Amino acid sequence: MSGPLPRHPILQAVGNTPLVELTDAFPEIPAGVRLFAKLESVNPGGSIKDRPVSRMITHALAEGKLAGGRRLLDSSSGNAGIAYAMLGAALGVPISIVVPGNASKERQDRIAAHGAELILTDPIEGYDFALRHAKHLASTQPEKYWYSNQYANENNWRAHFETTGVEILAQVEAATGGKPDAFVAGVGTGGTITGVGRRLRQVNPGVHIASVIPDIFPGLEGLKPLGHEGDIVPDILDESLIDRRETVTIESATETCLLLARRGLYVGPSSGAYVHLALKVAATREYATIVTILNDTGERYVSTGMWSPPTD
Ligand code: PMP
Repeated sequence: MSGPLPRHPILQAVGNTPLVELTDAFPEIPAGVRLFAKLESVNPGGSIKDRPVSRMITHALAEGKLAGGRRLLDSSSGNAGIAYAMLGAALGVPISIVVPGNASKERQDRIAAHGAELILTDPIEGYDFALRHAKHLASTQPEKYWYSNQYANENNWRAHFETTGVEILAQVEAATGGKPDAFVAGVGTGGTITGVGRRLRQVNPGVHIASVIPDIFPGLEGLKPLGHEGDIVPDILDESLIDRRETVTIESATETCLLLARRGLYVGPSSGAYVHLALKVAATREYATIVTILNDTGERYVSTGMWSPPTD
């Protein structure tokens, strides 16, 4: 039984982000190829995670999952935690977030500023440990917590299917008169690549989908390790969508972020990694229109030192 979805002005501010063209920013892009990116840092929580989190939290409220003061619990690399904390504060939902201790100080401070409970796990153990810890808390204290579980929550990928993917198609159509031939993303929970990938495949079954894989943990904040023995594969990740997987180092990602900053785009390392791979896809000359995502704001990483790299 489901009631009406809650409404709030801050929910209206999520999504409908600009599509920026990067073609002229990178002279190495071959003639005839165009590169576009969704500027997700303009969301009120500063990242793409506002989209799935607004859908997960409003649906949980409508379905009565948070009745009786139950706390919404989830694990996060930090950006989803910020979105939960921000929207929870706006909608009056108590929030508890399990975050690996390697999450940047900016993330941890903002989650706490919104009044959410921040549960830090060992930085060395990574995302999978934080996920297991959240699962443990939810199963041992079911009366206290409702476990949102963004790694398995269908509303995560559906948010991208219904919003991010739809916006990309309309904006690319307006800019080029055509459809995307390639999409480049990565996997944190797999929500973006699964939701956008499924939407793009609906209109162009041949669309090429490429995924960034971080080389080490902790490497690219927001992206989880995949492919090593024991790595948890998110339940919602549809791996059958992915045509190409490519390891990207933190150095290449940071270098690309510094270049993007010189073009007026101040974004975090996972965005740099996506653009780095998108440039490789462009270099093949096989795809005329390539789309990627700028996931979050560069301001979230000042404390990591990425904006002041050694000069020698
Ligand atoms: N980049 C950043 C900075 C993120 O925080 C996340 C989400 N953890 C992603 C990329 C990946 O998004 P998704 O969860 O949709 O796979």
